[in-house]
Amino acid sequence: MADLMDSMNEAIDQCATSPEQQQQQHAPPTSSNGCTSCHQPFNRHDDPVMYESKRYHEKCFTCFVCRVPLDLRRAHEHQNKLYCQRDFAMVKKKIHCASCEQPIEYNQVPLKVLGTYYHPGHVRCYQCQEPLDEKSSYREHQGRVYCRRDYRKLTLPKCRGCGKPVEKEAVSSNELQGKWHMSCFGCQTCHQSFPDSTFYVFDNSPYCKRHYHQLNNSLCRSCDDPIEGPCAQTIDEGWRFHPPCFTCTVCRHAITDIYYMFERRIYCETHIQQLQKQRNVRAEKRRTQFGRI
Ligand SMILES: [Zn+2]
Ligand SMILES: [Zn+2]
Ligand SMILES: [Zn+2]
Ligand SMILES: [Zn+2]
Ligand SMILES: [Zn+2]
Ligand SMILES: [Zn+2]
Ligand SMILES: [Zn+2]
Ligand SMILES: [Zn+2]
Repeated sequence: MADLMDSMNEAIDQCATSPEQQQQQHAPPTSSNGCTSCHQPFNRHDDPVMYESKRYHEKCFTCFVCRVPLDLRRAHEHQNKLYCQRDFAMVKKKIHCASCEQPIEYNQVPLKVLGTYYHPGHVRCYQCQEPLDEKSSYREHQGRVYCRRDYRKLTLPKCRGCGKPVEKEAVSSNELQGKWHMSCFGCQTCHQSFPDSTFYVFDNSPYCKRHYHQLNNSLCRSCDDPIEGPCAQTIDEGWRFHPPCFTCTVCRHAITDIYYMFERRIYCETHIQQLQKQRNVRAEKRRTQFGRI
């Protein structure tokens, strides 16, 4: 009897509502045929998901909290919102914000960060301290949460010059691993940029011509210019010369075969003999090695 009375009272209450209130109770015009979640109409190609006699776009049939696509058998509806099994259990229990410890209301989108729930704005980007909400498209990374911008910076390739993230204007080369800012790309030794865009690679790093040859031991010991092509070389010292620069210390004539080494100087046959007439000289007779660099 009491039950019947209650439902009768309800019926009377509904009749008593004003016309404006009744108006508000009607769903917005688009949603009568559209998606219950986004209120947008369905396209010809859409295959709406039917759930509890409501229709959803397939992409809209997702958990209100974690956005995971839902399965018809595992979906839950509560206060016109859909939840996955896990988040539904949390909603039923009334979620409390891990930051302010106050309950999160049904009409607020709880932020689920690192497995914990927060009010929108009650959790901040680890980097910039900006409050995050569902629109921040925040991301978790190594146990921390970041706004979209800082997450991007974190995961962007780092400049090999300055170590900071490279967004655009990156310099990369097939010959080299990694990327550089345009302004950071230069010789590893002198840090000069490469005006004609050509550079030398040594040990996976870029160098100007001079510093490449310095590392490569291909600067001429006599004129100090880089050797690219024919080269004369001493065996023991590993000294390298342009062939015309490989000359006798005294007469400066180029040596093409036999030379003598005495006190780390190079002599032609004539001038070592001249020296030997003056004093007791034990010079080392050698044959020049020629090659190419
Ligand atoms: Zn939709
Ligand atoms: Zn969920
Ligand atoms: Zn809170
Ligand atoms: Zn941030
Ligand atoms: Zn840089
Ligand atoms: Zn350099
Ligand atoms: Zn030279
Ligand atoms: Zn000579």
